[in-house]
Amino acid sequence: MDRLSALLKVACLKRDRYECVRCYKPVIQHPIHPYDFHDVSHIFPKSIYPLARFNLLNCKILCRKCHEWWHRNIQDAARWIQEYLGPRRYSQLLAVVINPDPFFRDFTKVEAYLKHQIRMYS
Ligand SMILES: [Zn+2]
Repeated sequence: MDRLSALLKVACLKRDRYECVRCYKPVIQHPIHPYDFHDVSHIFPKSIYPLARFNLLNCKILCRKCHEWWHRNIQDAARWIQEYLGPRRYSQLLAVVINPDPFFRDFTKVEAYLKHQIRMYS
């Protein structure tokens, strides 16, 4: 699981161009703990939607400050993410959250999916 979370973070960082998608603060590669001050933030919580946990559509990079804002201001955050994604990507996201692809149950397939995403955004 840790391994998949690490792959998810790499894929998400590449897709989001190594910056916070809300305030554009860039990721500084810290020599000891790279990427430590930016998080993969789930749009729909992984605790409630475990099969959307590793779907890149359900993830975004936030700096620590924006991540705290996200969790403290749920209603503003919900409005902001809909605007950020736009209607097309937001409805795609709803579809994968409501009706997740069953391959997300299979960690071997999840790993292959994440590695494919990493190649795609490299
Ligand atoms: Zn930020």
